[in-house]
Amino acid sequence: MEKIKMTTPLVEMDGDEMTRVIWQMIKDELICPFVDLKSEYYDLGLEYRNKTNDQVTVDSAEATKKYGVAVKCATITPNAARMTEYNLKEMWKSPNGTIRAILDGTVFRAPILVKGVEPYVKNWVKPITIARHAYGDVYKGAEMKIPGPGKVELVYTAEDGSETRELVHDFKNAGIVQGMHNLTPSIESFARSCFNFAIDTKQDLWFATKDTISKKYDHTFKDIFQEIYDTEYKTKFEELGLEYFYTLIDDAVARVIRSNGGYIWACKNYDGDVMSDMLATAYGSLSMMTSVLVSPKGVYEYEAAHGTVQRHYYKHLKGEETSTNSIATIFAWTGALRKRGELDELPELSAFADKLEKACIDTVESGKMTKDLALITTLKDVTPLNTEGFIKAVRETLEASL
Ligand code: NAP
Ligand code: MG
Repeated sequence: MEKIKMTTPLVEMDGDEMTRVIWQMIKDELICPFVDLKSEYYDLGLEYRNKTNDQVTVDSAEATKKYGVAVKCATITPNAARMTEYNLKEMWKSPNGTIRAILDGTVFRAPILVKGVEPYVKNWVKPITIARHAYGDVYKGAEMKIPGPGKVELVYTAEDGSETRELVHDFKNAGIVQGMHNLTPSIESFARSCFNFAIDTKQDLWFATKDTISKKYDHTFKDIFQEIYDTEYKTKFEELGLEYFYTLIDDAVARVIRSNGGYIWACKNYDGDVMSDMLATAYGSLSMMTSVLVSPKGVYEYEAAHGTVQRHYYKHLKGEETSTNSIATIFAWTGALRKRGELDELPELSAFADKLEKACIDTVESGKMTKDLALITTLKDVTPLNTEGFIKAVRETLEASL
């Protein structure tokens, strides 16, 4: 069989630990035998990030801006333990944070559904995609402990020196206080990324905040979304038969539980943090969550939602057998290849991505899966496979379908 040609390179961001091991296996077994892979390679493994003073992360994000599509392996976010383990010059920032800041993007997470791994909520027959606003609010809050009686105010000092004040509370006792903020351009980018992704994936968009209580803060989010929808996206949504739907966060939670899935749920930063963990658990497995960063300018970076699976990596280093699920990382590759295929008008490349995804799902549904899924599946006849065994099984299924 002749290999499928590519015209524009994919930005390839390699990573750390077990996912770095899987990365190479996926390329060797599932991509390179079938696709004449054109990629611009960036090594985001911690060792090389340290060597380049993290410049490689910035370069990879800049390349993503240039080419439009990236695929990223999970990476270590350094903490104190990693400082010694890798003898780091500095506690480098999270690569995801750096890339997100450069691309100004929003992260969309969606579960991969297979028969035999049933969501806890029985009526969720389609995936629910969570979009989390990744800037501000409580994550950039300023806090104080109030030791005793006294007045706390919000003070805005304009550039001309004039002041606007708002009383937070006249404390009669000890207490606590928190100030937080957000930025209009950031909320606008978030809104545009959500509307674009809804159009892209042909799904309805839901957005919810607590605007009845937070009449200025949350209400501004609601107003910005509505304004951008009305002026920039309404026509396109109507053409495609899509809906943009705003509701109160309490009501959204109730509706989500009763729904069949198949839509995007946009959340403010904190809501997105909590709700994405809730959804991942309710859908069955963290190892089956995909993640894509979408910039308001239509640049895409695909990855798995899970981390570098450190515990498995240490077993691997000791020469012990591992059973790490590669599906979310494979879907990062297929997401990126499909998008490249769409942008470059290479239908064969997009079709290959579809077939590889189907091969993963068919392999699991035939009873061949890694241990994490074997432990929770409702299928009867199950063959648990090791890390490499599963990838080879997917290759067999794929080859049979080509
Ligand atoms: P993790 O890599 O997500 O793994 C946590 C646990 O979840 C694993 O120990 C494993 O459970 C299970 N798991 C996750 N993915 C799996 C898979 N594909 N197959 C099978 N089991 C899977 O989180 P972590 O171990 O807490 O973090 C490790 C490193 O990842 C950290 O340095 C962190 O900074 C980094 N991280 C990176 C990203 C990213 O790049 N996007 C995201 C999150 C974390 P069992 O051990 O019970 O088998
Ligand atoms: Mg969380």
